[in-house]
Amino acid sequence: MNPLFAELPTSIFEIMSGLARDLEAINLGQGFPDFGWPDDVVEAAAGALRSGSNQYAPMRGLPALREAVAAHYRAHHRLAVDAGQVIVTSGATEAIAASLLALIEPGDEVLLFQPLYDAYLPLVRRAGGVPRFVRLVPPDWRITAEALDAAFTDRTRLVVFNNPHNPTSRVFGEAELRLLADHCVRRGAVVLSDEVWEHVVFDGRRHIPLCGLPGMAELTVKIGSAGKIFSLTGWKVGWVVAPPALAETVAKAHQFVTFATAPNLQSAVAFGLAKPLDDVARTAAAFAASRDHLRAGLEALGYATLPAEGTYFLSVDLAASGIAADDMTFCDRAVREAGVAAIPVSSFYAEDPVTRVVRLCFAKRRETLDEGMGRLGQARRLFA
Ligand code: GLN
Repeated sequence: MNPLFAELPTSIFEIMSGLARDLEAINLGQGFPDFGWPDDVVEAAAGALRSGSNQYAPMRGLPALREAVAAHYRAHHRLAVDAGQVIVTSGATEAIAASLLALIEPGDEVLLFQPLYDAYLPLVRRAGGVPRFVRLVPPDWRITAEALDAAFTDRTRLVVFNNPHNPTSRVFGEAELRLLADHCVRRGAVVLSDEVWEHVVFDGRRHIPLCGLPGMAELTVKIGSAGKIFSLTGWKVGWVVAPPALAETVAKAHQFVTFATAPNLQSAVAFGLAKPLDDVARTAAAFAASRDHLRAGLEALGYATLPAEGTYFLSVDLAASGIAADDMTFCDRAVREAGVAAIPVSSFYAEDPVTRVVRLCFAKRRETLDEGMGRLGQARRLFA
């Protein structure tokens, strides 16, 4: 067996959702909404199942969806993207896997930001990449010039970046993006830019696509997700948008990872992207209201929370909340003894973890959040 996978633990998202199912806990762990999807997009998928093709889609995706993705980025982010640059994948995780397989040569240095989404590092390592880390720390989780200067070397070939960022809920702004872009342009380093949360941003913020910065269009492999745009995470429809030469190579990897993605879901996503984005904006506003509701409830319970500028997640700082336990212990006891699942942020670090932050998903109906908060009140008492 390959030792990397033989020794790899099961993803924390699957562990926590599994425990939540088995123990009938309220699941504020794995990030998925329990409201907020557009009914007409679901109807379009149902209609496509009955009347459309149920055979293999073209390997790079349905032309209608590739065009819809390109048109969406042209209209929404003013990016010069055409359909030939788009490859539809079976979710963003597949997009990440195919891109890393395609872009890394064994021995290449790959720069990653910690805390990091748990899929990145095993895939980088399996592709032969040599990881180097930029460590972000609470409460600001800020990218600094010093940290980048220390992490970039002449051997840096690829950067794995995520913005808006899971699990810190930061929406990196222009100043931090420029710092990163400057290093990449100077060294010709390609960036795998996981931007799946691009529409889940709050309080009037706007996501800035990295490929829109000077010199970055040629260097950025951008990843997007219909699951996150339409609150349909189970559909597993994502995409890669890359400069033509990189897109060609990513497509070669994609063809032997999943080959193609369910055509009915693809045509429904194409339909959804062609509509005005009012529903998407309304859902983001509803999620912001859910965030505020959860934050107010947690603060009333004595929990100290961290800022949440985007994504589905609000984090609690255990130490600042007067809880001495580390995040793993807290999450384990919370799900087993208080019936509420959360995600320990230390599982997003490969080394030198921050162990005092717990991530909670607020993309839930009021009933779910209220029940979850009742149980988080019990969890707090476990550590009194
Ligand atoms: N993106 C989700 C989260 O952060 C997890 C997705 C998955 O489990 N594959 O919770």
